[in-house]
This record gives sequence, C-alpha cells and structure tokens, in this order.
Amino acid sequence: WTEGTVVDAENSLSELAALAETAGSEVLDGMLQRRSKPDAGTYIGSGKVEELKDVVEALGADTVICDGELSPGQLRTLEKEVNVKVVDRTALILDIFAQHAKSREGKAQVELAQLQYLLPRLRGWGDAMSRQAGGRAGGASGGVGLRGPGETKLETDRRRINTRIAKLRKDLSRMKTSRDTKRSDRTRHEVPAVVIAGYTNAGKSSLLNRLTGAGILVQDALFATLDTTTRRTQTSDGREYTLSDTVGFVRHLPHQLVEAFRSTLEEVADADLVLHVIDGDHPDPASQVAAVREVFSEVDAQNVPELLIVNKVDAVSAETLLRLHSDWPDAAFVSAATGEGIDKLQERIEQALPRPQVTLTVSLP
Ligand code: GDP
Repeated sequence: WTEGTVVDAENSLSELAALAETAGSEVLDGMLQRRSKPDAGTYIGSGKVEELKDVVEALGADTVICDGELSPGQLRTLEKEVNVKVVDRTALILDIFAQHAKSREGKAQVELAQLQYLLPRLRGWGDAMSRQAGGRAGGASGGVGLRGPGETKLETDRRRINTRIAKLRKDLSRMKTSRDTKRSDRTRHEVPAVVIAGYTNAGKSSLLNRLTGAGILVQDALFATLDTTTRRTQTSDGREYTLSDTVGFVRHLPHQLVEAFRSTLEEVADADLVLHVIDGDHPDPASQVAAVREVFSEVDAQNVPELLIVNKVDAVSAETLLRLHSDWPDAAFVSAATGEGIDKLQERIEQALPRPQVTLTVSLP
C-alpha cells in the first residue's frame, strides 16, 4: 500500500458515503481495511469483522455498506457475522440508478442490470429446504410436498427472471433502433450536436441550464442517471445547435451497468463537440478527468473535439485556481452557479462548432 493507494481508497470511501446519502441513508462511520486482496470468506477478514461488529453495535447501525462487489458467498457470510444487512457498492449504485431512471429506456436498462446482479444471488427457500430434506430422507422422496411438480421454487424464480431478462433485451434493442433513427434525422438537418460530459456532480446539469435555460433539476447529490436531456439552443450569431447532458460518471461503475452506460454514451462518439466539465472544487480532479477520458476511448469518442471546462471557480481559493490554470491552461474557467466566464465559454463554443459549408456564386455581367 503506497500513500497514493490510501488516498485513493479514502476518496473512494467518501464517494461511497455520498452515494449512500444520495440513496437516502444516514452515514454513521467509515472504516478502511488494508489488505493485498479481499478475504475469500468475509471480504474484510476475520479480525476486521470483529472490529466491525463492535462498531455496528456501538452505533446501532442497521446496514453495512462495502466498497466493492462481494461474491454472493462473501455477502451471506458477512451478513451472518455482523447480524445486520450488508450491501455492496454495486447494489447501492444500482439502487440509485433505479431511483433516478425516468425514460422508458433508462428504466429498462437499470432493471436489466438489477436482474443480472440478482440472478447468482437468489436464495429460494425451496433450494435450502430441498437440500435439507434431501439430506435427511436420502434423495428422491426428500423434496415431496416442498417442491413444485419437478421444480424447486428457486428454479421457477430463475426461469422467470431469465424470461424477463430476454424480454428486456428485446425491448432495449428496439428502443436503440429508434434512437439511431432519430440521430440520423439530426445529421440530415445538419444541426451540430454538442454534448456535455463529465464526472458526476461536476455541474453538467447546472451548465446546461446556464447555456439554455432548460430548468433541469439540479441536485447536490451524486446524481447517477442513464437518461440524457437534449435541448436546442443558438449561438449569438444565430446558428442552432443541440446541447445534451450525458450520464454522470462514477468510480467502479457496476459491470452490469457498463453495457447500458456505453450505449447511452455512444452519442458522444457522434457529437461535433464535447464539453468536458471538471469539478474545480474536487480534491483530485485529474483522476476524474482520466476516468472520463478512458470511457471516451472505450466508446470510440477519443477523436471528438473536446473543450475542457473547469467549473465552480467561485468555490475555490486563489491558490487552487492558479494550480487549475497551470494544469489545464487551455480550459474555459466558469462558474455555472454565478455565471462567471459563461460569455467567454459561449464564444469558445461558437468558434469550435463546425462552420456550415457555404458556397458563394458570383455572376459577373
Ligand atoms: P451534474 O451531476 O454534473 O449534473 O452536477 P449538477 O449540475 O447537478 O451540480 C452538482 C452540484 O454542484 C449542485 O449542488 C450544484 O449546485 C453545484 N454546482 C454546480 N455548478 C456550480 C458552480 O459553478 N459553483 C458552485 N459553488 N457549485 C456548483
């Protein structure tokens, strides 16, 4: 463990706390465990389990949230040990996405991800009972009266979930087709598309509001959503362009959501310009920028012209501002909250938008 790893773990833990608060929990305490790799049985190891039990009891906590994805076995063991509900980072993030999904597509994507997470974690009573009964009565007759005709409850549940997963996949591929059609409409109309991307809580919605007066809900919370909002707006010289707010990035996005996340982000690859918003008031903005750019390259958007925007300049000290300027000398520095720097930003967007191809024909007498 280097100092950097510890700082990173602490940042990740405070983001986890913010996520938990977004989901409606009250966070009582945080604990860090240093291990080279997770314990196979309890994830945190038996010594830490004892410590955790004491803390849970002392504070009267009803839930433990672990920063990571626990295997179904680890989750069960840890839950038994500490005697309260245990939730991992994946489940927490899925929960928040589920709370915030608004569009039909967003809802379907989150449900799909939740079912994929749930499937290996199902524990039907039928399963446990038939195993017990089977052990006692020695096989074939054991399950009689407990199992359905030829099938345990768990198997029925699994089958239902698999059917639902197949249906959601089909629905989603249909929705994607209609999204693609809409996109090609836009290309035909030759309206340049600008997307706002960036880490969650960087101020994307606030900036979209500033630039368009769209009146989108701005929350002081880690607002995780797969829905995008698109507004039409104009440059000062009257050229129209569309401006979209994209999904917020969070660290360690659950792999069940990555696919959904990518399909939403594909529109970044099609954009004429990306406004990459950075939270100037974050302790480690560079790592957020790196995380966002990594996803850009995953969705083939690394070649889209990018305008870096350092936001929240109203909230930082003069010293921090100086550092931000030297880190990103070409960025636009703004405050979506106070409006500072927005005029200049608008000019830079105008300059960066593709110019319509105009052909002048002059006929000489
Ligand atoms: P998003 O998750 O990137 O869409 O971020 P939001 O636009 O929802 O903003 C996240 C939080 O940062 C909210 O509490 C905003 O009020 C706050 N915020 C956004 N822009 C600024 C800014 O320029 N200055 C300050 N001080 N806070 C800001």
